[in-house]
Amino acid sequence: MNRKNPYLAILMSLFFMAPLVAGVRREKKKCLSPPKECEQQIRTMLTGQLYLGVEVTETKLGLIIKSVTSDSPADRADIRALDRIISIDGHDLTGRGVRDFRQVLNAAKDRPKPSVWMLVQRGSSFKRLDAMLEPVSQEQIDKIVAAHMAEFHPSEK
Ligand SMILES: [Zn+2]
Repeated sequence: MNRKNPYLAILMSLFFMAPLVAGVRREKKKCLSPPKECEQQIRTMLTGQLYLGVEVTETKLGLIIKSVTSDSPADRADIRALDRIISIDGHDLTGRGVRDFRQVLNAAKDRPKPSVWMLVQRGSSFKRLDAMLEPVSQEQIDKIVAAHMAEFHPSEK
């Protein structure tokens, strides 16, 4: 990763948690890189990255799925907003934070078959959901680039 561009570190940290475009939009830090170079860096960084496609939030009830990116692995696994996360891959996440969630997810990425299973509470029932982490699609990368350009480089095209 290019350490000259602080935006990329922020994007990286948001990436696996946030629905892609929304997460980028919310970040208000300035991007100082030339737009062409910046676009290239974003594309290079995201190409081949595995992701799930959820945004998770900590509440007094525990970790809750805040939103699910459409057409993402999470979407296909039927993970839904407001699901309460009980465990992932057998790791108990009740009373844990977003950081713990991310750690378990990152561990899954190193496996030959990068799948995860989640136990969630939905209303009064519990469900087991299986998701296969997938590389970010070209379409999603285009969206991230477009959102970044619109917000951080509005006058430069
Ligand atoms: Zn930029």
